[in-house]
Amino acid sequence: MQGFCELCKNYSQLEESHFIPKFIGKWVKKTSITSFLRNLDDMSKRVQDTAKEYWLCGDCEDLFSGWETKFANEIFFPFVEKGESVANYGEWMSKFCASISWRTLTYTRSQKLNEGRSKEYYEALNSAEKHLANYVLGKIDNLNQYEQHVFPLPEIDSTTYDGLPPNINRYFLRTLQMGVIGDFTDLTDLFVYTKVPSFIILGCIKAKDLPKMRSSRIALKSGTISPRKYWWPSGFAKYVLEQADTVNHSFNNMPQEHIDKIEKAIADNPEKAANSKLIEAFLHDYALFEDKVFK
Ligand SMILES: [Zn+2]
Repeated sequence: MQGFCELCKNYSQLEESHFIPKFIGKWVKKTSITSFLRNLDDMSKRVQDTAKEYWLCGDCEDLFSGWETKFANEIFFPFVEKGESVANYGEWMSKFCASISWRTLTYTRSQKLNEGRSKEYYEALNSAEKHLANYVLGKIDNLNQYEQHVFPLPEIDSTTYDGLPPNINRYFLRTLQMGVIGDFTDLTDLFVYTKVPSFIILGCIKAKDLPKMRSSRIALKSGTISPRKYWWPSGFAKYVLEQADTVNHSFNNMPQEHIDKIEKAIADNPEKAANSKLIEAFLHDYALFEDKVFK
């Protein structure tokens, strides 16, 4: 299909590509139990992991895939498969995160998910999108206010906080989500939110407490991701927990015939079930909440 590439704006042959990198959706499917349980995962992330469109030219697609491969091999798989929690990164990481935030912004716009907001809101989003595009294309070498932040999400087996939804581990470790979050009225805080298994990538559009967020900031040239004290912007934790809770409701309202199918899938192939990452996340939830996970 011929058209204008969304990123470089050149008219050329467009390729069908994913908004959230394809290897992530593939990993979620691979680590589910059955094709049916795959749909269960889908309920929680809606259709976003499979969302794809003809929107990038071959050159831009290649640019993205280089950074994706680095992130996949040096951070994502070591964390989700081997349980590692420390990783060093080079310049590719800030490019990767900027490309993810740019993709989420483009997706949000293409889905018309943010209609009916103020002129200033759209201007802020447009400026962010342009700046991120110029950064990933190498036309500018600084992110300025559009800093990229990464929050690794651990498995939670114990907590002193009693407001956690009983599927928090499944939300942290399994779901995918994209959106723009923050304060939509006075626009003092506005972020691009991309949730993938075990990580949140947060792109700043406007952040009133930017200096406090240093610990999660991705350095432009090189840095380390490691367990540390992360500072979450105001309202951010509440938003994340609400998202987990929304996902929980769709699980709770599952029809009996679906529950029967899951039980049968586990009975038919217990070994695969025992090794699946979905069950692993579920067991972390069970460790935390015991019987409440079934409610
Ligand atoms: Zn292009």
